[in-house]
Amino acid sequence: MNSIIRIAVQKSGRLSEDSLSLIKECGIKFYNGTGKLKSTSTNFPIEFLFLRDDDIPGYVSDGVADLGIVGENELVEKDKDVTVLKKLGFSKCRLSLAIPKGEHYESVRYFDGKSIATSYPKILADYLKSQNISAEIHEISGSVEIAPSIGLAQGICDIVSSGSTLMMNGLKEVEEIFKSEAVLIGNKSLAEEKLAIVDKLLFRMNAVQKGKSNKYVLLNAPNASLDKIIALIPGMRSPTILPLAEEGWSSVHSVLSEDQFWENIEGLRAAGAEGILVVPIEKMVI
Ligand code: ATP
Ligand code: MG
Repeated sequence: MNSIIRIAVQKSGRLSEDSLSLIKECGIKFYNGTGKLKSTSTNFPIEFLFLRDDDIPGYVSDGVADLGIVGENELVEKDKDVTVLKKLGFSKCRLSLAIPKGEHYESVRYFDGKSIATSYPKILADYLKSQNISAEIHEISGSVEIAPSIGLAQGICDIVSSGSTLMMNGLKEVEEIFKSEAVLIGNKSLAEEKLAIVDKLLFRMNAVQKGKSNKYVLLNAPNASLDKIIALIPGMRSPTILPLAEEGWSSVHSVLSEDQFWENIEGLRAAGAEGILVVPIEKMVI
């Protein structure tokens, strides 16, 4: 029987769009009609389950799904035994402690003997323990930021990205306790045939990720400066050098990370490079 792997992705929320684009960028085609809970790819042995993100770690550890894409916050909170196969670099956020704006705050000792509302009781309890703080944790499933104003708790522990929700609710962020991004997780006891498909998927994801973090650079340079320029942008094996129609000039093509590009741009210009073009790369296999 031909094997197929099953991946759990968030049905609708802050992980969904980036999870599905990553899969599409891997060349995997599927139909994602509204309201569908399951879908199968037409050109790769993979099936999709669309779920609430809370359920993804459990489905993967139970083997209902072989793979899943979920935030590290949800993964650590649910405390399920799965393998983290890859950090995906999107849905970055942090879990922080916040208190009413007018409160005086010096250190985390502030929370000793206080009550804190959160949807992340495990991560919070672990943090408080590590800091030797004893506080009462109120677990609530949503709208955590209104807890202090309705008298439910004195502080909160919640996801923060820009901080504007906190501000709107008269709160200030005082401690960051956990950093999160989306990760690809896998069941711990996958059969050989499934592992082979997972490897193929990882290979494609790596190619997409590498492509995104690198740029194709083209520039014109006087032949006398070529050595200097090649030293600045060595590329994968070495740059491509093509003669321009104008005598004494060449076009140099190379691949480098965006950071490397910005670090070397002055050096390139000082060496006489001009007409510099930076082009995105879709996939990259080294
Ligand atoms: P579900 O209905 O699936 O349970 P949810 O409401 O629990 O969804 P979302 O708000 O869609 O969850 O967030 C999903 C994940 O995205 C979070 O667990 C977190 O990892 C990440 N995330 C949350 N807020 C942000 C944000 N503001 N910016 C970036 N990533 C975020
Ligand atoms: Mg959720």
